[in-house]
Amino acid sequence: MMSKDINLPITRRPVFPDRCPICEKPGINDVIRLSGGRGILGWFAPRIAGRHIDVAIPAHTSCRRTFTLLRQLQAIVDIVAVFVIILTALMLLRLLAPGLTQPWRSIIALALGFGYMLLRGIWTALIRPPHVDITVYNTTITYEFRSRPYAAEFATLNPTNSP
Ligand SMILES: [Zn+2]
Repeated sequence: MMSKDINLPITRRPVFPDRCPICEKPGINDVIRLSGGRGILGWFAPRIAGRHIDVAIPAHTSCRRTFTLLRQLQAIVDIVAVFVIILTALMLLRLLAPGLTQPWRSIIALALGFGYMLLRGIWTALIRPPHVDITVYNTTITYEFRSRPYAAEFATLNPTNSP
């Protein structure tokens, strides 16, 4: 399942549906804050040179908490997993392939760590996208939603052919 993406100009203030993008129920009482940096420079250093973009998406407090917690946990799990994969691979290669010279052991271990991140990226993009996310480009922002009905409503509220 891929996310449903809507691209809008960066200057445009988006109108969000009057319900939560996570549980899809009304009665919103909080916002989820997502941020990104404009352009290539902003991608590496989103905090500098006025390239920082903040978006507040209306949601429930409880949904926001779970969403933020899971997002942070996932980031920690990913970092730990990459380290464990690289260290385990280095150890196993030393034990099981003693004929392999050092640069090759490191290259194989790093490639395995990179492979994990690649699979995680594919998983996120194709199988289980986050309920809501943004990608900031130079002049536009892409709003990404897991829920098709929510995304359809968002698209209706923000027609792309009007300024
Ligand atoms: Zn909710």
